Amino acid sequence: MKCGIRLGPLEISIAVITDDGDFVYSSSFKPADTYSELLVQLAAALKHCSNRYDIPSPVGVSVKGHETPSTGMITSLHHPLIAQKTLRRDMQAALKHSVIVASDGQCLAVAARSVLELDNKPTIFALSLDQSVCGGIIVSDKLLFGPHGLAGDWGHLSLPWPVDHEMEGRICVCGRTGCLEHFVSLEGLSHDYELLTGKKLTSESIIKQAETGDIVAESAMQVLEDRISRGLAMVIGLLDPDVILIGGMLAESKRLFTNIPRKWPGNIRSSVNSDILVPLRTSNPCPDHLYLHGAGHLCDYAK
Ligand SMILES: [Zn+2]
Repeated sequence: MKCGIRLGPLEISIAVITDDGDFVYSSSFKPADTYSELLVQLAAALKHCSNRYDIPSPVGVSVKGHETPSTGMITSLHHPLIAQKTLRRDMQAALKHSVIVASDGQCLAVAARSVLELDNKPTIFALSLDQSVCGGIIVSDKLLFGPHGLAGDWGHLSLPWPVDHEMEGRICVCGRTGCLEHFVSLEGLSHDYELLTGKKLTSESIIKQAETGDIVAESAMQVLEDRISRGLAMVIGLLDPDVILIGGMLAESKRLFTNIPRKWPGNIRSSVNSDILVPLRTSNPCPDHLYLHGAGHLCDYAK
Protein backbone atom coordinates (compact mmCIF):
# COMPACT_ATOMS: atom_id res chain seq x y z
CA MET A 1 0.00 0.00 0.00
CA LYS A 2 1.17 3.57 -0.77
CA CYS A 3 -0.22 6.98 0.04
CA GLY A 4 0.26 10.04 -2.17
CA ILE A 5 -0.83 13.65 -1.77
CA ARG A 6 -0.94 16.33 -4.46
CA LEU A 7 -0.76 19.69 -2.78
CA GLY A 8 -1.99 22.31 -5.25
CA PRO A 9 -2.88 25.95 -4.60
CA LEU A 10 -6.54 25.40 -5.56
CA GLU A 11 -7.06 21.76 -4.67
CA ILE A 12 -5.53 19.05 -2.51
CA SER A 13 -5.88 15.39 -3.49
CA ILE A 14 -4.99 12.34 -1.45
CA ALA A 15 -5.00 8.72 -2.60
CA VAL A 16 -4.32 5.27 -1.17
CA ILE A 17 -2.86 3.00 -3.84
CA THR A 18 -2.37 -0.77 -3.74
CA ASP A 19 0.92 -2.40 -4.70
CA ASP A 20 -0.76 -3.26 -8.04
CA GLY A 21 -1.40 0.44 -8.69
CA ASP A 22 -5.14 0.43 -8.00
CA PHE A 23 -6.62 3.46 -6.26
CA VAL A 24 -8.64 2.09 -3.35
CA TYR A 25 -9.33 5.54 -1.96
CA SER A 26 -9.07 9.07 -3.32
CA SER A 27 -10.45 12.36 -2.19
CA SER A 28 -10.04 16.03 -3.12
CA PHE A 29 -10.77 19.15 -1.15
CA LYS A 30 -10.18 22.89 -1.21
CA PRO A 31 -7.08 24.04 0.71
CA ALA A 32 -7.39 26.16 3.85
CA ASP A 33 -6.45 29.84 3.69
CA THR A 34 -3.56 29.72 6.16
CA TYR A 35 -0.49 27.50 6.44
CA SER A 36 -1.29 26.32 9.97
CA GLU A 37 -4.86 25.43 8.97
CA LEU A 38 -3.49 23.63 5.92
CA LEU A 39 -1.35 21.40 8.14
CA VAL A 40 -4.37 20.59 10.34
CA GLN A 41 -6.37 19.79 7.21
CA LEU A 42 -3.65 17.46 5.87
CA ALA A 43 -3.36 15.72 9.24
CA ALA A 44 -7.14 15.12 9.28
CA ALA A 45 -7.06 13.76 5.70
CA LEU A 46 -4.25 11.32 6.52
CA LYS A 47 -5.97 10.24 9.76
CA HIS A 48 -9.10 9.48 7.77
CA CYS A 49 -7.01 7.20 5.50
CA SER A 50 -5.13 5.62 8.42
CA ASN A 51 -8.44 4.67 10.08
CA ARG A 52 -9.35 2.61 7.01
CA TYR A 53 -6.00 1.45 5.61
CA ASP A 54 -2.57 0.54 6.84
CA ILE A 55 -0.61 3.56 5.58
CA PRO A 56 3.14 2.86 5.35
CA SER A 57 5.87 5.44 5.73
CA PRO A 58 6.75 7.67 4.06
CA VAL A 59 3.82 9.50 2.50
CA GLY A 60 4.80 11.20 -0.79
CA VAL A 61 3.75 14.76 -1.56
CA SER A 62 3.70 16.39 -5.00
CA VAL A 63 4.01 20.19 -4.94
CA LYS A 64 4.28 23.08 -7.39
CA GLY A 65 7.80 23.95 -6.34
CA HIS A 66 10.89 22.26 -5.02
CA GLU A 67 12.52 21.66 -1.66
CA THR A 68 16.03 22.96 -1.04
CA PRO A 69 17.75 20.07 0.78
CA SER A 70 20.13 22.26 2.83
CA THR A 71 17.35 24.35 4.39
CA GLY A 72 14.24 22.20 3.88
CA MET A 73 12.52 25.32 2.51
CA ILE A 74 10.09 25.15 -0.41
CA THR A 75 10.69 27.47 -3.34
CA SER A 76 7.44 27.93 -5.22
CA LEU A 77 6.27 30.47 -7.79
CA HIS A 78 2.76 29.06 -8.06
CA HIS A 79 1.84 28.22 -4.47
CA PRO A 80 2.53 31.18 -2.15
CA LEU A 81 1.06 29.46 0.94
CA ILE A 82 3.88 26.88 1.07
CA ALA A 83 6.68 29.08 -0.34
CA GLN A 84 9.58 29.58 2.09
CA LYS A 85 8.06 27.06 4.49
CA THR A 86 9.76 23.94 5.85
CA LEU A 87 6.87 21.88 4.51
CA ARG A 88 8.30 18.37 4.98
CA ARG A 89 9.35 19.00 8.58
CA ASP A 90 6.05 20.75 9.42
CA MET A 91 3.97 18.03 7.79
CA GLN A 92 5.89 15.32 9.62
CA ALA A 93 5.16 17.05 12.94
CA ALA A 94 1.47 17.58 12.10
CA LEU A 95 0.83 14.19 10.48
CA LYS A 96 3.09 12.18 12.85
CA HIS A 97 4.25 10.35 9.75
CA SER A 98 7.41 10.58 7.65
CA VAL A 99 7.02 12.52 4.42
CA ILE A 100 8.88 12.93 1.10
CA VAL A 101 8.30 16.08 -0.97
CA ALA A 102 8.98 16.39 -4.71
CA SER A 103 7.91 18.64 -7.56
CA ASP A 104 5.03 17.77 -9.88
CA GLY A 105 7.58 17.05 -12.63
CA GLN A 106 9.61 14.75 -10.39
CA CYS A 107 6.42 12.89 -9.37
CA LEU A 108 5.44 12.58 -13.02
CA ALA A 109 8.81 10.94 -13.75
CA VAL A 110 8.20 8.43 -10.93
CA ALA A 111 4.67 7.78 -12.24
CA ALA A 112 6.09 7.12 -15.71
CA ARG A 113 8.65 4.68 -14.33
CA SER A 114 6.18 2.84 -12.10
CA VAL A 115 3.12 2.82 -14.42
CA LEU A 116 4.76 2.12 -17.79
CA GLU A 117 7.00 -0.78 -18.76
CA LEU A 118 10.27 1.14 -18.77
CA ASP A 119 12.60 -1.52 -17.37
CA ASN A 120 14.91 -1.22 -20.38
CA LYS A 121 14.93 2.62 -20.25
CA PRO A 122 17.44 3.60 -17.56
CA THR A 123 17.37 7.35 -18.25
CA ILE A 124 13.93 8.95 -18.18
CA PHE A 125 13.00 12.62 -18.60
CA ALA A 126 9.37 13.46 -17.82
CA LEU A 127 7.80 16.81 -18.49
CA SER A 128 4.56 18.24 -17.16
CA LEU A 129 3.10 20.75 -19.65
CA ASP A 130 0.16 22.33 -17.90
CA GLN A 131 -0.62 25.65 -16.21
CA SER A 132 2.95 25.45 -14.96
CA VAL A 133 5.83 23.57 -16.54
CA CYS A 134 8.35 21.34 -14.79
CA GLY A 135 10.34 18.18 -15.37
CA GLY A 136 11.83 15.23 -13.55
CA ILE A 137 14.76 12.92 -14.20
CA ILE A 138 15.22 9.26 -13.27
CA VAL A 139 18.55 7.54 -13.89
CA SER A 140 18.90 3.83 -13.10
CA ASP A 141 15.77 3.79 -10.93
CA LYS A 142 16.89 6.78 -8.88
CA LEU A 143 14.98 10.05 -8.94
CA LEU A 144 17.47 12.89 -9.19
CA PHE A 145 16.95 15.84 -6.85
CA GLY A 146 20.40 17.43 -6.93
CA PRO A 147 22.08 19.38 -4.12
CA HIS A 148 19.64 22.27 -4.61
CA GLY A 149 16.55 20.15 -5.38
CA LEU A 150 16.50 21.62 -8.88
CA ALA A 151 17.02 18.54 -11.08
CA GLY A 152 14.45 18.69 -13.90
CA ASP A 153 13.50 22.35 -13.38
CA TRP A 154 13.20 22.72 -17.17
CA GLY A 155 10.44 25.34 -17.11
CA HIS A 156 12.72 28.11 -15.87
CA LEU A 157 15.55 27.54 -18.28
CA SER A 158 15.68 30.02 -21.11
CA LEU A 159 14.08 29.16 -24.48
CA PRO A 160 17.08 28.07 -26.60
CA TRP A 161 17.87 29.38 -30.09
CA PRO A 162 15.48 32.34 -29.72
CA VAL A 163 14.68 34.64 -32.62
CA ASP A 164 14.77 38.38 -31.86
CA HIS A 165 11.05 39.00 -31.27
CA GLU A 166 10.71 36.03 -28.89
CA MET A 167 12.45 37.79 -26.03
CA GLU A 168 10.61 41.13 -26.22
CA GLY A 169 8.54 41.74 -23.08
CA ARG A 170 8.44 38.06 -22.19
CA ILE A 171 8.62 38.43 -18.42
CA CYS A 172 8.16 35.09 -16.69
CA VAL A 173 6.36 34.58 -13.37
CA CYS A 174 9.87 34.14 -11.85
CA GLY A 175 10.73 37.72 -12.87
CA ARG A 176 13.27 36.81 -15.52
CA THR A 177 12.90 36.99 -19.28
CA GLY A 178 12.40 34.20 -21.79
CA CYS A 179 11.79 31.15 -19.58
CA LEU A 180 10.38 28.08 -21.33
CA GLU A 181 7.36 28.05 -18.99
CA HIS A 182 6.32 31.44 -20.31
CA PHE A 183 6.16 30.02 -23.85
CA VAL A 184 4.98 26.43 -23.53
CA SER A 185 2.48 26.40 -20.65
CA LEU A 186 -1.29 26.52 -21.29
CA GLU A 187 -1.16 30.24 -20.60
CA GLY A 188 1.85 30.58 -22.95
CA LEU A 189 -0.14 29.14 -25.88
CA SER A 190 -3.12 31.33 -25.04
CA HIS A 191 -0.86 34.41 -24.81
CA ASP A 192 0.69 33.68 -28.21
CA TYR A 193 -2.73 33.37 -29.82
CA GLU A 194 -3.70 36.69 -28.26
CA LEU A 195 -0.57 38.33 -29.71
CA LEU A 196 -1.55 37.06 -33.17
CA THR A 197 -5.26 37.91 -33.05
CA GLY A 198 -5.91 40.30 -30.17
CA LYS A 199 -8.39 37.70 -28.90
CA LYS A 200 -8.01 35.62 -25.73
CA LEU A 201 -8.85 31.92 -26.10
CA THR A 202 -8.12 28.97 -23.83
CA SER A 203 -5.42 26.59 -24.99
CA GLU A 204 -8.05 23.82 -25.33
CA SER A 205 -10.02 26.01 -27.78
CA ILE A 206 -6.86 26.84 -29.75
CA ILE A 207 -6.00 23.14 -30.09
CA LYS A 208 -9.57 22.39 -31.24
CA GLN A 209 -9.56 25.28 -33.72
CA ALA A 210 -6.26 24.08 -35.21
CA GLU A 211 -7.84 20.64 -35.69
CA THR A 212 -10.67 22.22 -37.69
CA GLY A 213 -8.20 23.95 -40.02
CA ASP A 214 -8.10 27.46 -38.51
CA ILE A 215 -4.93 28.99 -39.97
CA VAL A 216 -4.08 31.26 -37.01
CA ALA A 217 -4.59 28.51 -34.42
CA GLU A 218 -2.51 26.20 -36.61
CA SER A 219 0.26 28.79 -36.70
CA ALA A 220 0.19 29.14 -32.88
CA MET A 221 0.41 25.34 -32.54
CA GLN A 222 3.37 25.13 -34.94
CA VAL A 223 5.23 27.80 -32.97
CA LEU A 224 4.45 25.95 -29.72
CA GLU A 225 5.78 22.67 -31.16
CA ASP A 226 8.92 24.39 -32.40
CA ARG A 227 9.60 25.86 -28.96
CA ILE A 228 9.04 22.57 -27.12
CA SER A 229 11.30 20.92 -29.69
CA ARG A 230 14.10 23.42 -29.03
CA GLY A 231 13.73 22.97 -25.28
CA LEU A 232 13.85 19.18 -25.57
CA ALA A 233 16.85 19.35 -27.93
CA MET A 234 18.70 20.94 -24.99
CA VAL A 235 17.64 18.04 -22.72
CA ILE A 236 18.83 15.51 -25.30
CA GLY A 237 22.17 17.31 -25.62
CA LEU A 238 22.72 17.28 -21.85
CA LEU A 239 21.15 14.00 -20.75
CA ASP A 240 20.53 11.90 -23.89
CA PRO A 241 17.55 10.17 -22.21
CA ASP A 242 16.25 6.78 -23.36
CA VAL A 243 12.73 8.14 -23.22
CA ILE A 244 11.03 11.54 -22.88
CA LEU A 245 7.47 11.48 -21.54
CA ILE A 246 5.10 14.40 -21.70
CA GLY A 247 2.15 14.60 -19.32
CA GLY A 248 -0.28 17.35 -18.33
CA MET A 249 -3.03 18.99 -20.38
CA LEU A 250 -0.90 19.63 -23.47
CA ALA A 251 -0.03 15.92 -23.71
CA GLU A 252 -3.65 15.38 -24.81
CA SER A 253 -2.72 16.96 -28.16
CA LYS A 254 -1.59 13.98 -30.26
CA ARG A 255 0.07 16.10 -32.96
CA LEU A 256 2.87 17.13 -30.57
CA PHE A 257 4.31 13.63 -30.62
CA THR A 258 4.59 13.60 -34.41
CA ASN A 259 5.62 17.19 -35.00
CA ILE A 260 8.16 17.82 -32.22
CA PRO A 261 10.69 15.11 -33.27
CA ARG A 262 10.46 16.32 -36.90
CA LYS A 263 12.04 19.59 -35.78
CA TRP A 264 14.96 18.02 -33.88
CA PRO A 265 17.41 17.59 -36.80
CA GLY A 266 17.98 21.37 -36.88
CA ASN A 267 19.04 21.46 -33.22
CA ILE A 268 20.58 18.09 -32.42
CA ARG A 269 23.91 17.02 -33.91
CA SER A 270 23.03 13.35 -34.12
CA SER A 271 19.94 11.62 -35.47
CA VAL A 272 17.48 10.83 -32.67
CA ASN A 273 14.66 8.31 -33.03
CA SER A 274 11.27 9.99 -32.89
CA ASP A 275 9.88 7.13 -30.79
CA ILE A 276 11.77 8.33 -27.70
CA LEU A 277 9.01 10.94 -27.28
CA VAL A 278 5.98 9.35 -25.61
CA PRO A 279 2.71 10.78 -24.21
CA LEU A 280 1.96 10.15 -20.57
CA ARG A 281 -1.80 9.87 -20.37
CA THR A 282 -4.12 7.91 -18.14
CA SER A 283 -7.61 6.47 -18.43
CA ASN A 284 -8.11 6.94 -14.68
CA PRO A 285 -10.88 9.55 -14.21
CA CYS A 286 -9.03 11.30 -11.36
CA PRO A 287 -7.32 14.33 -13.01
CA ASP A 288 -4.46 14.16 -10.52
CA HIS A 289 -4.02 10.41 -11.00
CA LEU A 290 -0.45 10.38 -12.36
CA TYR A 291 0.86 12.96 -9.88
CA LEU A 292 -0.72 11.05 -6.99
CA HIS A 293 0.65 7.77 -8.30
CA GLY A 294 4.12 9.33 -8.56
CA ALA A 295 3.88 10.89 -5.10
CA GLY A 296 2.82 7.55 -3.62
CA HIS A 297 5.77 5.77 -5.24
CA LEU A 298 8.41 8.41 -4.35
CA CYS A 299 9.65 6.13 -1.58
CA ASP A 300 10.78 3.56 -4.21
CA TYR A 301 12.79 5.99 -6.34
CA ALA A 302 13.91 8.80 -4.00
CA LYS A 303 16.61 6.65 -2.44
ZN1 LIG B 1 10.88 31.75 -15.15
